[in-house]
Amino acid sequence: MRSLSIFGATGSIGESTFDLIQRQGGRASYRIVALTAGGNVRRLAEQARSLRPEIAVIADAAKLPALREALAGSGIETAGGAGAVAEAALRPADWVMSAIVGAAGLVPGFRALSHGTTLALANKESLVTAGPLLMAEARRRGATILPVDSEHSAAFQALGGEDMAAVETVTLTASGGAFRDWPLDRLAQATVAEASTHPNWAMGQRITIDSASMFNKALEVIEAHEYFGIAPERIEVLVHPESLVHAIVGFRDGGMIGHLGAPDMRHAIGYALNWPERAALPVARLKLAEVGRLTFAAPDPARYPALGLARAVMATGGLAGAAFNAAKESALDAFIAGRIRFTDMAGVVERVLDRLTGQGGLEKRPASLDMVLDMDRSARRLAAEAMGVPADAERI
Ligand code: NDP
Repeated sequence: MRSLSIFGATGSIGESTFDLIQRQGGRASYRIVALTAGGNVRRLAEQARSLRPEIAVIADAAKLPALREALAGSGIETAGGAGAVAEAALRPADWVMSAIVGAAGLVPGFRALSHGTTLALANKESLVTAGPLLMAEARRRGATILPVDSEHSAAFQALGGEDMAAVETVTLTASGGAFRDWPLDRLAQATVAEASTHPNWAMGQRITIDSASMFNKALEVIEAHEYFGIAPERIEVLVHPESLVHAIVGFRDGGMIGHLGAPDMRHAIGYALNWPERAALPVARLKLAEVGRLTFAAPDPARYPALGLARAVMATGGLAGAAFNAAKESALDAFIAGRIRFTDMAGVVERVLDRLTGQGGLEKRPASLDMVLDMDRSARRLAAEAMGVPADAERI
């Protein structure tokens, strides 16, 4: 029986993973090792009572007594705190879903590689902050990393195992987010509620706002660079409002292979869950005659400054990805808290990168997770300073 763990089980990706596992027989088909959540005790306990993992872990340690109470008499072990989440990742499982949001997902995903697992990686921040470390650890441990981000799963599928030497371009599509058609001069007034609505995908709030600003696509460009080992200038972004073509791989013979599908993350999750086989999945089938037309456009750099920042980050390399992601997370927190405007976020990230460039060390190759975590904390501190808000350097 295959064993598996879900990190971030109560989130949007975690719930879709839970749904697919239930549809594929639940605990009759899989031995569940660990389920983790940030603070949602009620939902974690419900999932645990249904899937019966060895251990249920809540990252917010103050909520451990509530989790214990909710699982009393079940025989399921409980634990609390970020350290306990990382420890749970050391428990061997054949397949591990990494679906914690933000840089907090890095350490658990990295630890899970130590037992040579198949890591289904939704947490793009892991590759953005520590790509070379993560890929090297996977090679060293004989582990497999499968992309779950829809665009990267699509590119992986379009590649079909072909040699990367035959690849000229990887194109990632982007819906354009909530403000694709807004006049530019209105963007500064965008509210959190408006930014939290996605035209096509149902996702967690943070990634939805990141889609509106295209910080999400910026992270994904870096993720593609790290995962596929493809040069930055060969990675393209296209605005594709229908969100039906998820990625296109262009080969050196001029052929292009694209991947199409309904905007439902259960496709990419189910692909990773059943890989290398293709199982029947409960996702809607596209009727292209009804769709009629697919449209594509180049992204407007004035509307989406995050994309330019991602290019600068890849040019610097080293620890720039960790700084970029941490500054972005801080700016996003401040926007959600109503402290800065939607259009201020890119400026905050740029200022942090400029300050760190001035101080030196940004281009240093990450030799350990500690180096990445140190850079993460420095960038959060500088972002807080730039915004004049209290520092929250302990998020990771
Ligand atoms: P959600 O915000 O919906 O869920 C995040 C999960 O992580 C929840 O289980 C949450 O617990 C948990 N969590 C939050 N903070 C912490 C923390 N500090 N420590 C431990 N656990 C924590 O996010 P999504 O599911 O939308 O996204 C998850 C990841 O997948 C992100 O990296 C995102 O970029 C990526 N992704 C998401 C897609 C989507 O469709 N949603 C598509 C492609 C990639 P709790 O519920 O208790 O707060």
